[in-house]
Amino acid sequence: MSLAAFECARCGVRVFPRRYFCHGCGAAQWREVDASEGTIDETTLVRHRAGAGGRPPTLLATVITCAGPAVVAKLEAPAARGEAVRLRLDADAAIVADPLPARPPHAAAQSSDRPGAGS
Ligand SMILES: [Zn+2]
Repeated sequence: MSLAAFECARCGVRVFPRRYFCHGCGAAQWREVDASEGTIDETTLVRHRAGAGGRPPTLLATVITCAGPAVVAKLEAPAARGEAVRLRLDADAAIVADPLPARPPHAAAQSSDRPGAGS
């Protein structure tokens, strides 16, 4: 399952998670916006958690989503600041960040220059 942020239907403020009321205008109607990708802002390794004795350390990242809001996601492998990730929800509804394959800048330009390429 991919991740969605929430956009105020009246003023366009985007938040995650959804709030009862918009902090921008007070409205209470939201629409989902795609937040399935993002960029790592910082990472941290959590070694000890209260009540979680014996569990392995957890690597977390603050990710700025493509929709705008930041989320905290689990990382399954170390990643660097600025790295692009895909965001998804795991079976426990925790947000997980998976690395996106690096896309060379010229590859995107070539595919848009030649419509139909790759079909
Ligand atoms: Zn609003």
